[in-house]
Amino acid sequence: MLPPVSEQEIKEYRQELEKVLKGRGYYLNPDDTYTNNLIQGILVNIKRYGYGCCPCRLAAKDKAKDIDVICPCYYRDDDVAEYGACFCGLYVSRENYKEKKEISSIPERRGKAKPIPRSIPMKELTITHTVWRCNVCGYLTARDTAPDVCPICGVPKDRFEIFIEGNK
Ligand code: SF4
Repeated sequence: MLPPVSEQEIKEYRQELEKVLKGRGYYLNPDDTYTNNLIQGILVNIKRYGYGCCPCRLAAKDKAKDIDVICPCYYRDDDVAEYGACFCGLYVSRENYKEKKEISSIPERRGKAKPIPRSIPMKELTITHTVWRCNVCGYLTARDTAPDVCPICGVPKDRFEIFIEGNK
C-alpha cells in the first residue's frame, strides 16, 4: 500500500519548491492538478525510500543507484532546454509556463545522455561538455546550452558566453 500523503504536505512541498525556483528560470507546470499529483509521487517516494526519486521512473530502491533521478534529476535542464519540459512534465520552460502549452511526451534521456563526470582533469574538460559563463556573476555551467535565466543572479540567456568550447 502507498504511504499516505496529506494535502497539507503537498501544499508545503510545493511552496518550498516555488520559493527555491523564484527568479531562477525554472517553472512548475501551470496545470495545478498535474503538478500536485507529481509532488504527491515524490512525497510517497520520500516516505518509501528516504529520498525523492522521480515519480515517473522505476526506483532501484538504492539511493546511490538512483542518485541521477532524485528530483530534480540530472536530465531536467537538458530536457527543458530541448523539449520545454522535464521527462515527467513537472518542470517546464518559461515559454511553456507563460503560454500554458500542452506538454507532449518527452523521450527518456537517462542511459542515453553522455554523463557529466563529477570531477574531470582540466586538460580534458574541452573533450566533453561546453562550459558557459554568466558574464554578470561569473556562474559557470557545463551543458549543451546556456540556461534561460542565470540561477544565481537572474540575468537572461543572452548574458552568457561560451567559456570553454565543448567537443561533442
Ligand atoms: S523528470 Fe522532472 S519530475 Fe522527474 S526527477 Fe526529473 S525533474 Fe523531477
